[in-house]
Amino acid sequence: MIHAQVAIIRGDGIGIDVTDATLAVIDAARARVGGFDLEYREILAGAGYYADNGIDIEPGGETAAGECDAIFLGAIGLPAIRHTDGTEISPHLRLRDIYGLYAGVRPVRAYPNAPQRLADPRAADIDLVILRESTEGLFYSAAVHGRSEVIDDREVRDTLRITRATTEKLHRFGFELARKRRARGHRGLLTCVDKANVFTSMAFFRQIFDEIRAEFPDVETGYNYVDAQALDFIRRPWDFDVLVTENMFGDILSDLAGGLVGGMGMAACAEIGDTTGLFQPAHGSAPDIMDQDLANPLAAILSGALMLDYLAEKTACDALARAASAIESAVERGFAANRIRPREFGGDMGTRAVTNEVITQLREA
Ligand code: ATP
Repeated sequence: MIHAQVAIIRGDGIGIDVTDATLAVIDAARARVGGFDLEYREILAGAGYYADNGIDIEPGGETAAGECDAIFLGAIGLPAIRHTDGTEISPHLRLRDIYGLYAGVRPVRAYPNAPQRLADPRAADIDLVILRESTEGLFYSAAVHGRSEVIDDREVRDTLRITRATTEKLHRFGFELARKRRARGHRGLLTCVDKANVFTSMAFFRQIFDEIRAEFPDVETGYNYVDAQALDFIRRPWDFDVLVTENMFGDILSDLAGGLVGGMGMAACAEIGDTTGLFQPAHGSAPDIMDQDLANPLAAILSGALMLDYLAEKTACDALARAASAIESAVERGFAANRIRPREFGGDMGTRAVTNEVITQLREA
Protein backbone atom coordinates (compact mmCIF):
# COMPACT_ATOMS: atom_id res chain seq x y z
CA MET A 1 0.00 0.00 0.00
CA ILE A 2 1.47 3.35 -1.09
CA HIS A 3 1.23 6.07 1.51
CA ALA A 4 1.62 9.71 0.42
CA GLN A 5 1.50 12.90 2.45
CA VAL A 6 -0.31 15.96 1.13
CA ALA A 7 -0.21 19.49 2.57
CA ILE A 8 -3.65 21.09 2.47
CA ILE A 9 -3.99 24.87 2.41
CA ARG A 10 -7.67 25.77 2.20
CA GLY A 11 -7.06 29.53 2.23
CA ASP A 12 -9.87 32.06 1.79
CA GLY A 13 -13.32 32.52 0.28
CA ILE A 14 -14.40 29.76 -2.09
CA GLY A 15 -10.95 28.16 -1.61
CA ILE A 16 -12.40 26.50 1.47
CA ASP A 17 -15.48 25.05 -0.29
CA VAL A 18 -13.63 23.83 -3.35
CA THR A 19 -10.95 22.17 -1.21
CA ASP A 20 -13.61 20.31 0.76
CA ALA A 21 -15.20 19.25 -2.54
CA THR A 22 -11.86 18.00 -3.88
CA LEU A 23 -11.02 15.99 -0.77
CA ALA A 24 -14.45 14.33 -0.87
CA VAL A 25 -13.96 13.38 -4.53
CA ILE A 26 -10.42 12.09 -3.94
CA ASP A 27 -11.75 10.01 -1.07
CA ALA A 28 -14.41 8.47 -3.33
CA ALA A 29 -11.78 7.73 -5.99
CA ARG A 30 -9.54 6.10 -3.36
CA ALA A 31 -12.44 3.97 -2.14
CA ARG A 32 -13.13 2.95 -5.73
CA VAL A 33 -9.57 2.14 -6.81
CA GLY A 34 -7.79 1.19 -3.56
CA GLY A 35 -4.04 0.57 -3.32
CA PHE A 36 -3.01 3.91 -1.83
CA ASP A 37 -3.52 6.00 1.21
CA LEU A 38 -3.23 9.77 1.63
CA GLU A 39 -2.37 11.54 4.84
CA TYR A 40 -3.32 15.21 5.01
CA ARG A 41 -1.32 17.85 6.81
CA GLU A 42 -3.48 20.97 7.15
CA ILE A 43 -1.58 24.25 6.97
CA LEU A 44 -3.29 27.48 7.93
CA ALA A 45 -2.58 30.41 5.64
CA GLY A 46 -4.26 33.24 3.78
CA ALA A 47 -5.80 36.65 4.21
CA GLY A 48 -8.22 35.54 6.93
CA TYR A 49 -5.34 33.98 8.85
CA TYR A 50 -3.31 37.18 8.40
CA ALA A 51 -6.18 39.31 9.75
CA ASP A 52 -6.34 37.14 12.87
CA ASN A 53 -2.64 36.54 13.46
CA GLY A 54 -0.61 39.25 11.69
CA ILE A 55 1.27 36.62 9.61
CA ASP A 56 0.12 35.07 6.32
CA ILE A 57 1.01 31.44 7.03
CA GLU A 58 1.30 29.48 10.26
CA PRO A 59 4.80 29.38 11.75
CA GLY A 60 6.90 26.80 9.94
CA GLY A 61 4.15 26.41 7.31
CA GLU A 62 6.42 26.77 4.26
CA THR A 63 8.82 24.09 5.49
CA ALA A 64 6.00 21.74 6.50
CA ALA A 65 4.41 22.12 3.07
CA GLY A 66 7.69 21.24 1.35
CA GLU A 67 8.14 18.14 3.49
CA CYS A 68 4.95 16.62 2.09
CA ASP A 69 4.84 14.80 -1.26
CA ALA A 70 2.53 17.46 -2.75
CA ILE A 71 0.66 20.63 -1.78
CA PHE A 72 -3.03 21.26 -2.50
CA LEU A 73 -4.27 24.82 -2.26
CA GLY A 74 -7.83 26.18 -2.50
CA ALA A 75 -7.39 29.93 -3.07
CA ILE A 76 -5.74 32.75 -1.18
CA GLY A 77 -6.47 36.48 -0.85
CA LEU A 78 -9.30 38.81 0.07
CA PRO A 79 -9.35 42.29 -1.49
CA ALA A 80 -10.28 43.94 1.81
CA ILE A 81 -7.32 42.48 3.71
CA ARG A 82 -3.93 43.74 2.56
CA HIS A 83 -0.42 44.47 3.76
CA THR A 84 0.21 48.05 4.81
CA ASP A 85 1.82 48.79 1.39
CA GLY A 86 -1.43 47.81 -0.35
CA THR A 87 -0.26 44.46 -1.78
CA GLU A 88 -2.43 41.39 -1.33
CA ILE A 89 -1.67 38.53 1.02
CA SER A 90 0.08 35.90 -1.09
CA PRO A 91 2.13 33.28 0.79
CA HIS A 92 1.56 30.88 -2.12
CA LEU A 93 3.81 33.03 -4.34
CA ARG A 94 6.60 32.45 -1.81
CA LEU A 95 5.98 28.70 -2.02
CA ARG A 96 6.43 28.96 -5.79
CA ASP A 97 9.77 30.73 -5.27
CA ILE A 98 11.06 28.59 -2.41
CA TYR A 99 10.36 25.32 -4.21
CA GLY A 100 11.17 26.55 -7.74
CA LEU A 101 7.79 25.52 -9.17
CA TYR A 102 8.75 26.35 -12.75
CA ALA A 103 6.35 24.11 -14.67
CA GLY A 104 2.85 25.62 -14.73
CA VAL A 105 0.53 23.01 -16.24
CA ARG A 106 -2.84 24.36 -17.46
CA PRO A 107 -5.10 21.84 -19.18
CA VAL A 108 -7.83 23.29 -21.40
CA ARG A 109 -10.54 20.89 -22.45
CA ALA A 110 -14.02 21.17 -23.93
CA TYR A 111 -16.61 19.10 -22.08
CA PRO A 112 -19.93 18.16 -23.68
CA ASN A 113 -22.80 20.44 -22.60
CA ALA A 114 -20.36 22.97 -21.08
CA PRO A 115 -20.26 26.40 -22.76
CA GLN A 116 -18.45 26.64 -26.08
CA ARG A 117 -17.63 30.10 -27.32
CA LEU A 118 -16.79 29.09 -30.89
CA ALA A 119 -19.50 28.20 -33.39
CA ASP A 120 -17.28 25.75 -35.31
CA PRO A 121 -18.29 22.19 -34.29
CA ARG A 122 -14.61 21.21 -34.07
CA ALA A 123 -14.51 23.30 -30.86
CA ALA A 124 -15.90 20.19 -29.16
CA ASP A 125 -12.46 18.62 -29.75
CA ILE A 126 -10.44 21.23 -27.87
CA ASP A 127 -8.12 19.33 -25.55
CA LEU A 128 -4.74 20.91 -24.96
CA VAL A 129 -2.26 21.77 -22.22
CA ILE A 130 -0.47 25.08 -21.83
CA LEU A 131 2.88 24.72 -20.10
CA ARG A 132 3.61 28.11 -18.60
CA GLU A 133 7.03 28.77 -17.10
CA SER A 134 6.19 30.13 -13.66
CA THR A 135 9.31 31.45 -11.91
CA GLU A 136 10.95 33.89 -14.33
CA GLY A 137 10.09 35.39 -17.74
CA LEU A 138 8.48 38.82 -17.47
CA PHE A 139 7.15 37.96 -14.01
CA TYR A 140 10.79 38.07 -12.84
CA SER A 141 10.12 41.72 -12.12
CA ALA A 142 6.57 41.33 -10.84
CA ALA A 143 5.85 44.00 -8.23
CA VAL A 144 6.01 41.49 -5.38
CA HIS A 145 9.75 40.95 -6.05
CA GLY A 146 10.64 44.67 -6.08
CA ARG A 147 12.94 44.28 -9.12
CA SER A 148 11.53 46.94 -11.43
CA GLU A 149 13.83 49.83 -12.24
CA VAL A 150 11.96 53.02 -11.41
CA ILE A 151 13.63 56.17 -12.73
CA ASP A 152 12.12 59.10 -10.87
CA ASP A 153 8.60 59.65 -12.06
CA ARG A 154 9.68 59.45 -15.71
CA GLU A 155 10.31 55.84 -16.60
CA VAL A 156 9.89 52.28 -15.37
CA ARG A 157 11.74 49.22 -16.72
CA ASP A 158 10.73 45.62 -16.15
CA THR A 159 12.97 42.68 -16.96
CA LEU A 160 12.13 39.54 -18.93
CA ARG A 161 14.53 36.89 -17.63
CA ILE A 162 15.20 33.60 -19.40
CA THR A 163 17.81 31.35 -17.81
CA ARG A 164 19.33 28.27 -19.40
CA ALA A 165 18.93 26.23 -16.22
CA THR A 166 15.16 26.77 -15.92
CA THR A 167 14.45 26.71 -19.65
CA GLU A 168 16.20 23.37 -20.16
CA LYS A 169 14.08 21.86 -17.39
CA LEU A 170 10.92 23.47 -18.75
CA HIS A 171 11.40 22.18 -22.29
CA ARG A 172 12.36 18.71 -21.07
CA PHE A 173 9.14 18.72 -19.02
CA GLY A 174 7.23 19.74 -22.17
CA PHE A 175 8.69 16.94 -24.29
CA GLU A 176 7.99 14.37 -21.60
CA LEU A 177 4.43 15.67 -21.24
CA ALA A 178 3.90 15.44 -25.02
CA ARG A 179 5.19 11.87 -24.97
CA LYS A 180 2.88 10.98 -22.07
CA ARG A 181 -0.08 12.52 -23.87
CA ARG A 182 0.70 10.57 -27.02
CA ALA A 183 0.79 7.36 -24.97
CA ARG A 184 -2.72 8.28 -23.75
CA GLY A 185 -4.11 8.68 -27.25
CA HIS A 186 -3.48 12.38 -27.89
CA ARG A 187 -1.50 13.73 -30.80
CA GLY A 188 1.61 14.45 -28.70
CA LEU A 189 2.48 17.62 -30.63
CA LEU A 190 4.65 20.11 -28.70
CA THR A 191 4.49 23.75 -29.90
CA CYS A 192 7.07 26.30 -28.78
CA VAL A 193 5.30 29.66 -28.40
CA ASP A 194 7.62 32.66 -28.33
CA LYS A 195 8.55 35.92 -30.04
CA ALA A 196 11.93 34.74 -31.29
CA ASN A 197 11.74 37.06 -34.30
CA VAL A 198 11.91 40.15 -32.09
CA PHE A 199 13.49 39.45 -28.70
CA THR A 200 16.94 38.02 -27.98
CA SER A 201 15.58 36.39 -24.82
CA MET A 202 12.92 34.62 -26.86
CA ALA A 203 15.44 33.51 -29.51
CA PHE A 204 17.39 31.97 -26.62
CA PHE A 205 14.19 30.28 -25.39
CA ARG A 206 13.70 28.75 -28.86
CA GLN A 207 17.39 27.83 -29.21
CA ILE A 208 17.17 25.79 -26.00
CA PHE A 209 13.92 24.21 -27.24
CA ASP A 210 15.83 23.01 -30.33
CA GLU A 211 18.69 21.69 -28.22
CA ILE A 212 16.36 19.64 -26.01
CA ARG A 213 14.41 18.49 -29.07
CA ALA A 214 17.47 16.48 -30.11
CA GLU A 215 16.89 14.30 -27.00
CA PHE A 216 13.30 13.54 -28.08
CA PRO A 217 13.40 12.73 -31.80
CA ASP A 218 10.10 10.84 -31.51
CA VAL A 219 8.11 13.93 -30.44
CA GLU A 220 6.37 15.98 -33.14
CA THR A 221 7.12 19.70 -32.73
CA GLY A 222 5.93 23.05 -34.03
CA TYR A 223 6.60 26.77 -33.52
CA ASN A 224 4.30 29.72 -33.24
CA TYR A 225 4.83 33.38 -32.45
CA VAL A 226 2.68 34.44 -29.53
CA ASP A 227 0.57 36.89 -31.53
CA ALA A 228 -0.16 34.22 -34.15
CA GLN A 229 -0.94 31.80 -31.33
CA ALA A 230 -3.61 34.16 -29.97
CA LEU A 231 -5.17 34.22 -33.43
CA ASP A 232 -4.89 30.44 -33.79
CA PHE A 233 -6.59 29.89 -30.43
CA ILE A 234 -9.65 31.51 -32.00
CA ARG A 235 -9.24 30.08 -35.53
CA ARG A 236 -8.18 26.48 -34.83
CA PRO A 237 -7.51 25.65 -31.16
CA TRP A 238 -8.39 21.98 -31.83
CA ASP A 239 -5.11 21.61 -33.77
CA PHE A 240 -2.90 22.08 -30.68
CA ASP A 241 -1.85 19.64 -28.00
CA VAL A 242 0.95 20.80 -25.66
CA LEU A 243 2.24 24.39 -25.87
CA VAL A 244 5.32 25.58 -23.97
CA THR A 245 5.83 29.26 -23.33
CA GLU A 246 7.27 32.08 -21.22
CA ASN A 247 5.51 33.15 -18.00
CA MET A 248 3.64 36.27 -19.17
CA PHE A 249 2.63 34.80 -22.54
CA GLY A 250 1.39 31.71 -20.68
CA ASP A 251 -0.59 33.86 -18.26
CA ILE A 252 -2.45 35.58 -21.08
CA LEU A 253 -2.87 32.57 -23.37
CA SER A 254 -4.20 30.33 -20.62
CA ASP A 255 -6.99 32.80 -19.80
CA LEU A 256 -7.81 33.10 -23.49
CA ALA A 257 -7.85 29.35 -24.01
CA GLY A 258 -9.75 28.79 -20.74
CA GLY A 259 -12.40 31.21 -21.92
CA LEU A 260 -13.01 29.06 -25.01
CA VAL A 261 -14.23 26.13 -22.95
CA GLY A 262 -16.19 27.63 -20.08
CA GLY A 263 -14.97 29.85 -17.30
CA MET A 264 -12.68 30.11 -14.30
CA GLY A 265 -14.50 27.29 -12.54
CA MET A 266 -13.07 24.79 -15.06
CA ALA A 267 -9.44 26.01 -15.03
CA ALA A 268 -7.25 23.43 -13.31
CA CYS A 269 -3.60 24.11 -12.59
CA ALA A 270 -0.46 22.37 -11.41
CA GLU A 271 2.85 24.05 -10.59
CA ILE A 272 5.64 21.53 -10.51
CA GLY A 273 9.27 21.82 -9.42
CA ASP A 274 12.14 19.41 -8.87
CA THR A 275 11.05 18.22 -5.43
CA THR A 276 7.35 19.01 -5.03
CA GLY A 277 4.25 20.26 -6.82
CA LEU A 278 1.49 22.68 -5.88
CA PHE A 279 -2.01 21.99 -7.19
CA GLN A 280 -4.72 24.61 -7.19
CA PRO A 281 -7.60 25.88 -9.30
CA ALA A 282 -6.44 28.79 -11.49
CA HIS A 283 -9.20 30.99 -10.05
CA GLY A 284 -8.96 33.12 -6.93
CA SER A 285 -11.03 33.22 -3.76
CA ALA A 286 -13.99 34.89 -5.55
CA PRO A 287 -15.32 36.67 -2.44
CA ASP A 288 -18.40 37.82 -4.38
CA ILE A 289 -19.76 34.27 -4.42
CA MET A 290 -18.34 32.82 -1.21
CA ASP A 291 -20.58 31.06 1.33
CA GLN A 292 -23.45 30.81 -1.15
CA ASP A 293 -22.88 27.34 -2.61
CA LEU A 294 -22.27 29.03 -5.97
CA ALA A 295 -18.66 28.10 -6.73
CA ASN A 296 -17.99 25.58 -9.45
CA PRO A 297 -15.67 23.06 -7.73
CA LEU A 298 -14.51 21.37 -10.96
CA ALA A 299 -11.32 23.42 -11.42
CA ALA A 300 -10.24 22.30 -7.95
CA ILE A 301 -11.41 18.71 -8.45
CA LEU A 302 -9.52 18.45 -11.76
CA SER A 303 -6.45 19.99 -10.06
CA GLY A 304 -6.82 17.21 -7.48
CA ALA A 305 -6.71 14.68 -10.34
CA LEU A 306 -3.51 16.33 -11.64
CA MET A 307 -2.09 15.93 -8.15
CA LEU A 308 -2.90 12.21 -8.03
CA ASP A 309 -1.24 11.80 -11.42
CA TYR A 310 1.86 13.60 -10.14
CA LEU A 311 1.93 11.44 -7.00
CA ALA A 312 1.54 8.33 -9.17
CA GLU A 313 4.77 9.15 -10.93
CA LYS A 314 6.57 10.30 -7.81
CA THR A 315 5.75 7.15 -5.86
CA ALA A 316 5.63 4.79 -8.87
CA CYS A 317 2.08 3.80 -7.90
CA ASP A 318 -0.28 2.80 -10.68
CA ALA A 319 -3.34 2.95 -8.43
CA LEU A 320 -2.89 6.72 -8.00
CA ALA A 321 -2.84 7.15 -11.79
CA ARG A 322 -6.02 5.06 -12.06
CA ALA A 323 -7.69 7.24 -9.41
CA ALA A 324 -6.71 10.37 -11.36
CA SER A 325 -8.17 9.07 -14.58
CA ALA A 326 -11.30 7.82 -12.75
CA ILE A 327 -11.94 11.40 -11.60
CA GLU A 328 -11.38 12.82 -15.08
CA SER A 329 -13.75 10.35 -16.66
CA ALA A 330 -16.37 10.88 -13.94
CA VAL A 331 -16.41 14.59 -14.85
CA GLU A 332 -16.53 13.76 -18.55
CA ARG A 333 -19.40 11.28 -18.15
CA GLY A 334 -21.31 13.63 -15.85
CA PHE A 335 -21.21 16.37 -18.48
CA ALA A 336 -22.01 13.99 -21.33
CA ALA A 337 -25.15 12.77 -19.51
CA ASN A 338 -26.05 16.39 -18.67
CA ARG A 339 -25.95 15.46 -14.99
CA ILE A 340 -23.34 18.15 -14.22
CA ARG A 341 -24.90 21.58 -14.66
CA PRO A 342 -22.88 24.17 -12.70
CA ARG A 343 -24.55 27.42 -11.74
CA GLU A 344 -21.47 29.14 -13.14
CA PHE A 345 -22.82 28.26 -16.60
CA GLY A 346 -26.41 29.12 -15.78
CA GLY A 347 -27.21 25.61 -14.57
CA ASP A 348 -29.08 24.61 -11.43
CA MET A 349 -26.27 22.93 -9.47
CA GLY A 350 -24.23 24.54 -6.72
CA THR A 351 -20.90 23.45 -5.27
CA ARG A 352 -22.32 20.58 -3.25
CA ALA A 353 -24.58 19.21 -5.97
CA VAL A 354 -21.78 19.18 -8.56
CA THR A 355 -19.45 17.47 -6.06
CA ASN A 356 -22.06 14.86 -5.20
CA GLU A 357 -22.68 14.11 -8.86
CA VAL A 358 -18.96 13.55 -9.51
CA ILE A 359 -18.92 11.18 -6.52
CA THR A 360 -22.00 9.37 -7.84
CA GLN A 361 -20.34 8.98 -11.24
CA LEU A 362 -17.25 7.56 -9.54
CA ARG A 363 -19.32 5.04 -7.58
CA GLU A 364 -21.40 3.98 -10.58
CA ALA A 365 -18.41 3.53 -12.92
P1 ATP B 1 -7.22 36.41 -8.34
O1 ATP B 1 -6.59 37.74 -8.57
O2 ATP B 1 -6.75 35.73 -7.09
O3 ATP B 1 -7.19 35.51 -9.53
P2 ATP B 1 -9.81 37.53 -8.81
O4 ATP B 1 -10.76 38.09 -7.83
O5 ATP B 1 -9.19 38.41 -9.82
O6 ATP B 1 -8.74 36.67 -8.04
P3 ATP B 1 -11.26 35.18 -9.17
O7 ATP B 1 -11.33 35.05 -7.72
O8 ATP B 1 -10.64 34.09 -9.93
O9 ATP B 1 -10.53 36.46 -9.64
O10 ATP B 1 -12.72 35.39 -9.67
C1 ATP B 1 -13.14 36.22 -10.74
C2 ATP B 1 -14.64 36.03 -10.88
O11 ATP B 1 -14.88 34.78 -11.55
C3 ATP B 1 -15.27 35.90 -9.53
O12 ATP B 1 -15.71 37.13 -9.10
C4 ATP B 1 -16.40 34.92 -9.73
O13 ATP B 1 -17.58 35.57 -10.03
C5 ATP B 1 -15.93 34.07 -10.91
N1 ATP B 1 -15.40 32.78 -10.46
C6 ATP B 1 -14.12 32.48 -10.12
N2 ATP B 1 -14.00 31.22 -9.75
C7 ATP B 1 -15.23 30.66 -9.85
C8 ATP B 1 -15.77 29.36 -9.58
N3 ATP B 1 -15.01 28.35 -9.16
N4 ATP B 1 -17.08 29.16 -9.80
C9 ATP B 1 -17.86 30.15 -10.25
N5 ATP B 1 -17.43 31.38 -10.50
C10 ATP B 1 -16.13 31.66 -10.31
